[in-house]
Amino acid sequence: MTHPAGGWPATSEHLQLASTVRDAVKSSGELYRLGLGMIASENIVSPAVRDIVSSDLHGRYAEGLPGKRYYQGCDDFDTIEALGIDLAQQVFGASFANIQSVSGTVSNIGALKALAKPGDAITAVSTADGGHISHARMGAVGLRDLNLTTYPWDEERMEPDVDAACKTIREVQPKVALFGQSVFLFPTPLEEMAAAAKEVGASVMYDGAHVLGLIAGGQFQDPLREGADLMTGSSHKTFPGPQGGFLLSSSEDPAFQRRLNNAMFPGVCSSYHLHHVAGKVMALAEFMEYGEAYAKDTVTNAQAFAAALASEGFDVLAEGRGYTASHQVLTRHGDLDSGAGAKAAKQLEDAGIITNMNMLPGDTKALSPSGLRLGVQELTRVGFTPGDMEEVARFYARVLLAGEDPSDVRKDVHALKLNHQTVRYCFNDDGRSGYPE
Ligand SMILES: *Cc1c(COP(=O)(O)O)cnc(C)c1O
Repeated sequence: MTHPAGGWPATSEHLQLASTVRDAVKSSGELYRLGLGMIASENIVSPAVRDIVSSDLHGRYAEGLPGKRYYQGCDDFDTIEALGIDLAQQVFGASFANIQSVSGTVSNIGALKALAKPGDAITAVSTADGGHISHARMGAVGLRDLNLTTYPWDEERMEPDVDAACKTIREVQPKVALFGQSVFLFPTPLEEMAAAAKEVGASVMYDGAHVLGLIAGGQFQDPLREGADLMTGSSHKTFPGPQGGFLLSSSEDPAFQRRLNNAMFPGVCSSYHLHHVAGKVMALAEFMEYGEAYAKDTVTNAQAFAAALASEGFDVLAEGRGYTASHQVLTRHGDLDSGAGAKAAKQLEDAGIITNMNMLPGDTKALSPSGLRLGVQELTRVGFTPGDMEEVARFYARVLLAGEDPSDVRKDVHALKLNHQTVRYCFNDDGRSGYPE
């Protein structure tokens, strides 16, 4: 018998669809529970954040700001969002925070809406040098119809060529000087370029999507005190919250702050995913307790991993600068544009190690690059130490240098990972697994 509302029992054909979804979700969870998640933009949330993200707030609306709502039923959420704004200001040392953005890209779209008008000029890092697609014509910059000029790049130092970039800023006189990348090994030397931007009346915007957790933990740079008017970012990369974004500013100007809030709502969001906002607030509370240690351990692990890969015989970028000052490590696996990075990523996946191919300086083809971009933040969160990172580097060498069968290496990968199932740096006294089965 079918229920009059048509809901239950479903026909077997449709039940099959349900189990297809359920099985794939479970299988994806197993991949990361047993394997090594090393994609630099990913992370794992704490059990407390996970509970909130699957709470009733998922189905609710709260347009506006705390105390200024269009719907009833928001009193509890007002408590949450007001607390979150306060915590974000403390954690990032900001005089303004908006925590509504549903992603880093949406943060950037909102920021560019607040800072520029169609036809204005913008300067940013090119995607070939590690800039994000939202900094490009194909992304948010194009959506706002801004005229993009990219900074000259110093391939040795993996950062903008400061003198040449200052010259570019003075010539172009952009409305917005945007900094920050997705391939992000070293802090941006911001102060001089920000000063050049101020000279020509540009707003200085720093996209901290990748490195926000390191910045908040005091381990990378402090853009809001180095000249940035506005910092955007994702809440789920090195910052260990649920998917979402932040808008943060050092400005005390109420008119500017209002412009930023309006850019988020009604500018680019209606519903802004209350369960994720509440999850961000829990992640901020946890970060206040554990963030500095987590950020420090992440950078230490990245440096240990880079050094271990180099001593195994890999070509690790930026040796002269100590390889990395962030959560990322870059390796080159063959000739430029050879696709060697793509091949290496696939072999590692067969061994249970999840990474991504990446263009490195000199590569021109996004689908057949020579490199890998590796991140250690998730492994750090589940308790990997520098000693563990050396073992991970040996797995890489067995697969990619010694040519061992990846499925043999996978057994050892799984054995190592099974010893690291609990998320650290969070309120997790009951020791629940970070990887729900
Ligand atoms: C990942 C990233 C973004 C986009 O963030 P999403 O949350 O994935 O939308 C924006 N800027 C930079 C520099 C990034 O690396």
